Amino acid sequence: MASLNDNLAPAAPTAVPPTTAPGIRTDNVTRHYTMGEATIRAVDGISLQIDAGDFVALLGSSGSGKSSLLNLIAGLDRPTSGSIVVQGSDLAKLTRLELAQYRLRTVGMVFQSFNLIPSMTVHENVELPLRFAEVDRRERAKLSREAIERVGLAARIDHKPTQLSGGEQQRVALARALVNQPKLLLADEPTGNLDSKTGTGIMDLIDNFNRTLGMTVLMVTHERSLAERYARRLIFLADGKLVADEPNIPTHTQGVRQ
Ligand code: ADP
Ligand code: MG
Repeated sequence: MASLNDNLAPAAPTAVPPTTAPGIRTDNVTRHYTMGEATIRAVDGISLQIDAGDFVALLGSSGSGKSSLLNLIAGLDRPTSGSIVVQGSDLAKLTRLELAQYRLRTVGMVFQSFNLIPSMTVHENVELPLRFAEVDRRERAKLSREAIERVGLAARIDHKPTQLSGGEQQRVALARALVNQPKLLLADEPTGNLDSKTGTGIMDLIDNFNRTLGMTVLMVTHERSLAERYARRLIFLADGKLVADEPNIPTHTQGVRQ
C-alpha cells in the first residue's frame, strides 16, 4: 500500500492540479421511501456531474434530500432508479462485496455526530478502516499515525473519544476518513455540532485535504455562508430536486493561495 509520507512532507508550495475526469456523475437518480401508503420522494431525479478535485457544497433546507443523496453517492444506500458513477465505477453494477470495497477505498466520510467508537482510542478508531482492508499491523500503525499527525492530534493518540472536545473528535473522524487515502471525501454537516471557531478549524483541514491531497470534496451544509467561504461550486436542493447550481469563489482563500 502506498504511503501518505509524500503528502506529509512540508506543505507543497503548489496545489495538486485538478484533473478533468469526472469524479461523480449521477443520471436521473431517485430515492423513494415508502411510509405506509405514502411515498416520500427524498431524491427526485437528480443529474449532476462533479469534477475530480473539486470542492462542492450541497445546500438546501432540512428535509430537502441532501443526506439521502450523499448516502447514495457513498454507497451506503441504493437508488430507487437512475445511475451513479464514481471514479469510473457504476455503483449499481457493483456486487455487495465490491460496494464494500468501494466504501473502504474510494470514499472517506464524516458526519455531524463524529461516529467514533467510544471504547477505542484515537489510534484504534483511525486504523479501523485499515483493519477492514487487511493492511498489516506495522503499516497500519504508520499510516494511522501519519493521518493523526495531519489533523494535529499526535499528543492525543492514546486518548478515548470521551476525553476529547467536539472539535478534536471531529479531527479524529477526519483522520479516519483519510487514512485509506480515498479520492472522495463526503461530509454531512461536518461542523453542525461545533461552535464557529472550532468549525472553521475543521473546514480549514478539509480545505487542506482538497488542495494538497487532491481529494474531491462534497459537503452537505445548510449554512450558505460556510459554503461560500470554502466551496468552488454551490448546488441547491429543494424537495429532492436540484434547483440551482452556481460557481463560487471561496472567500477564505481569496488572494492567498492558487
Ligand atoms: P436533509 O439531509 O436535506 O435534511 P434527508 O435526505 O435526510 O434531508 O431527507 C429527505 C426526506 O426523506 C425527508 O422528508 C425525510 O423525512 C425523508 N427520509 C430520509 N430518510 C428516510 C428514511 N430512512 N425513511 C423514510 N423517510 C426518510
Ligand atoms: Mg441531512
